[in-house]
Amino acid sequence: MSCLMSATSAQPVHVIGGGLAGSEAAWQLAHAGVPVVLHEMRPLRMTDAHRTDRLAELVCSNSFRSDDRSYNAVGLLHEEMRRSASLILAAADAHRVPAGGALAVDREGFSAAVEQALAAEPLVVIERGEIAGLPPAEWDEVIVATGPLTSPALAEAISRLTGEDSLAFFDAIAPIVHKESIDFDIAWFQSRYDKGDGVDYINCPLDREQYYAFVEALLAGEKTSFHEWEEKTPYFEGCLPIEVMAARGRDTLAFGPMKPVGLTDPRTGRRAYAVVQLRQDNALGTLYNIVGFQTKLKHGEQLRIFRMIPGLARAEFARLGGLHRNTFLNSPKLLDRELRLKAMARLRFAGQLTGVEGYVESAAIGLLAGRFAAAAKRGRQLAPPPVTTALGALLGHITGGADAATFQPMNVNFGLFPALETRERGRERKRALAERALAELDAWLGASRAAAAE
Ligand SMILES: Cc1cc2nc3c(=O)[nH]c(=O)nc-3n(C[C@H](O)[C@H](O)[C@H](O)COP(=O)(O)OP(=O)(O)OC[C@H]3O[C@@H](n4cnc5c(N)ncnc54)[C@H](O)[C@@H]3O)c2cc1C
Repeated sequence: MSCLMSATSAQPVHVIGGGLAGSEAAWQLAHAGVPVVLHEMRPLRMTDAHRTDRLAELVCSNSFRSDDRSYNAVGLLHEEMRRSASLILAAADAHRVPAGGALAVDREGFSAAVEQALAAEPLVVIERGEIAGLPPAEWDEVIVATGPLTSPALAEAISRLTGEDSLAFFDAIAPIVHKESIDFDIAWFQSRYDKGDGVDYINCPLDREQYYAFVEALLAGEKTSFHEWEEKTPYFEGCLPIEVMAARGRDTLAFGPMKPVGLTDPRTGRRAYAVVQLRQDNALGTLYNIVGFQTKLKHGEQLRIFRMIPGLARAEFARLGGLHRNTFLNSPKLLDRELRLKAMARLRFAGQLTGVEGYVESAAIGLLAGRFAAAAKRGRQLAPPPVTTALGALLGHITGGADAATFQPMNVNFGLFPALETRERGRERKRALAERALAELDAWLGASRAAAAE
């Protein structure tokens, strides 16, 4: 690494937050020969969810989800990260525990391996301490990777810099459906009162009986219990969970998110008793979110109950609903394609703070932020990965593809990938998307290596 180091300026890159994203970013920087200071506030200051002082602590489950690189988007992301020399994936592979087709890890062994690898890296200095405001002006290249539980002082400073409404503190997630799984023999395109283009929403009609059966199912459905610390965070009236609204009265939803007014079911020529509306969620038009359906129902219950909605009987979900405290940027509005804050380009963001959801996705954005910062430190520009790769699709979604007005944290999924030019369907389509992704990733990695060696 020493020959590369001479090409960099003496100033290190400062990475704030030693979680999944920050640890990966620091590793990628060091791997490119760039010195790093990694700032982690634990154990001096803890978050409400972390329990240890370890880098890359997993705050909840020990699963990195499916490891199927041919048919599953997160499995494909694993493979892309392995090929990109990811520390997080190497540590996960080394501390794998049996979990069927999933990549699950021994959480202590995993975190210890990440910490040991970074501690042993001569170009990385780990400093314990909170960065309690905007980083000092002399830090010319900073990666902020402080996660969903960013400390309040830093969160407030970022909020002031980006504008009052740009940092969400409470995350109400509505489920997202793959458009191709919606039954258009039942559902139809129409905007309420034919506003806008007249066909901006997908509508699913319910008759009286179906509506009350649906409300009963919502009320009886099993809910996720709140963490004790989450109980201190009140609901915002504007984003009440659907089952909380239903509990206020059996007709509340029919006058709220499920109101049928201004919509005519083309099959009957009449207004339905109630309507569930879905709104386009990505620029490609492959994903639709269910409007107003943020929920604390358990995931299995969401699948069962939301598939009761006419038109969604065979719905495939790109993401299920949820509600927890979260800090994330409105990245499509605030960040450029290299994850830099438009309002202050020396600050780059990574991890869950950028509006991706999940351990793997957070680490993936850390990997990209680290590579972009390394190139910048060495006076070069790194082209983003192609949007046909899982890394590029995720990056493209948060930095442009997603609608800024409705932006919510997102898992990687095949709905984020541009369509194939060939006509494969179902599983074969996924395999073709994955094959295309890996071929294009290899080309991108090759080109990046060649540019770095020049
Ligand atoms: C309660 C909860 C449960 C979750 N469960 C799961 C799950 O089961 N599976 C899943 O895939 N995803 C889960 N997530 C979502 C997400 O994937 C994880 O939060 C993931 O750890 C995000 O990675 P990150 O690197 O962005 O943030 P983190 O891993 O949280 O890392 C951020 C780091 O920054 C540090 N930090 C914060 N502020 C400062 C500061 N001012 N100065 C210095 N250091 C600071 C923190 O101590 C922390 O170590 C969960 C999130 C939450 C909040």
